[in-house]
Amino acid sequence: MAIKNRRWLLKRHPDPAELPGPEHFTLDEAKAPEPAEGQVLVRTIYLSLDPYMRGRINPARNYAQGVAVGEVMTGRVIGEVTASRRPGYERGDIVHANIGWQDYGVTGDAELRKIDPKLAPISTGLGLLGMPGLTAYFCLLDLGAPKPGETVLVTAASGAVGSVAGQIAKIKGCRAIAVAGSAAKIAYCTGELGYDAAIDYNAEPDLAAAIARAAPKGVDVFFDNVGGSVHQAVIERLNVGARIALCGVMSQYNPTERSRAVPYNLRNILIPRARMQGFLIYDYAAREREGLEALAAWYREGRIKFRETIAEGLESAPLAFRGLLRGENLGKQLVRVGPEPI
Ligand code: NDP
Repeated sequence: MAIKNRRWLLKRHPDPAELPGPEHFTLDEAKAPEPAEGQVLVRTIYLSLDPYMRGRINPARNYAQGVAVGEVMTGRVIGEVTASRRPGYERGDIVHANIGWQDYGVTGDAELRKIDPKLAPISTGLGLLGMPGLTAYFCLLDLGAPKPGETVLVTAASGAVGSVAGQIAKIKGCRAIAVAGSAAKIAYCTGELGYDAAIDYNAEPDLAAAIARAAPKGVDVFFDNVGGSVHQAVIERLNVGARIALCGVMSQYNPTERSRAVPYNLRNILIPRARMQGFLIYDYAAREREGLEALAAWYREGRIKFRETIAEGLESAPLAFRGLLRGENLGKQLVRVGPEPI
């Protein structure tokens, strides 16, 4: 009997200043595809929602292939293999796969890998033990190069990437400072995640002064996920030889009044002789195993914690995506599409 497959197709590209939502997608129903030689059929259990997806539905040029109107929206999932024509993969295997916003998809590409369900909850394959965790690991350690006793400041500090970056900074013996967007996020940062200080940029009338209070010795490593006016306030506190690990620019994905353009004060880079470097996780594909092993070990030792915000049902994906771009998530944003195997 044919398996029914619900899938979200891109209906139209949002304007650059428009927040994506249900009006930009169509929920379609088709027959699940059949795996070709070398492929598996995957049933989606968790779908990951990530900020990079905003760039994929921009008609403008990006660093990766965009989604065309009528195509299935792109996205990584944790799922269960329900049919296999790929050596080494069997029915029942739990896998990480890039099959998009749908119940079922076929794949055999380089992003297909098995997940060990005994290691950690399988959903962590999209967060702590997936692309966001690896991003935090390599961007902080390679670009930020934190030394014990230094001050590391992280923006979007409670999110999928930021929460891991802050905890690694603590593991490396640094003072970690969080910048995040709500009282609940601040409580999570200083409580569960172990940041030494946290600043709610939406509640602080003078952000630069708040950063000065939280970082009395200045900032040595700035792990930035956000850009915009928050970035401007942080660079006023850089120490000599500071490193800016530029991971993301959330404030520019959907420009809002809180991310209004501010002139970049290059003097704040020049005087401390700071270095800023952009980061893309794709450059680290060959070192994935190294990152995953380190993160898994810290998780087993109880030194890294994580949280997830889980929207229920494939139908909730567009609204949950809008929520992510508005900063409504705490920790990793996922969609539960189907049940975990018992
Ligand atoms: P998060 O879970 O951190 O969610 C995004 C968060 O961004 C929001 O919760 C919000 O938190 C924050 N934010 C800050 N400014 C704004 C704004 N103007 N509008 C909306 N949200 C804002 O997402 P991820 O951890 O998945 O990603 C974090 C960053 O890392 C992103 O910039 C992403 O693009 C980047 N990234 C980069 C990669 C790379 O290879 N370079 C790979 C993976 C992710 P708050 O309320 O605290 O501000």
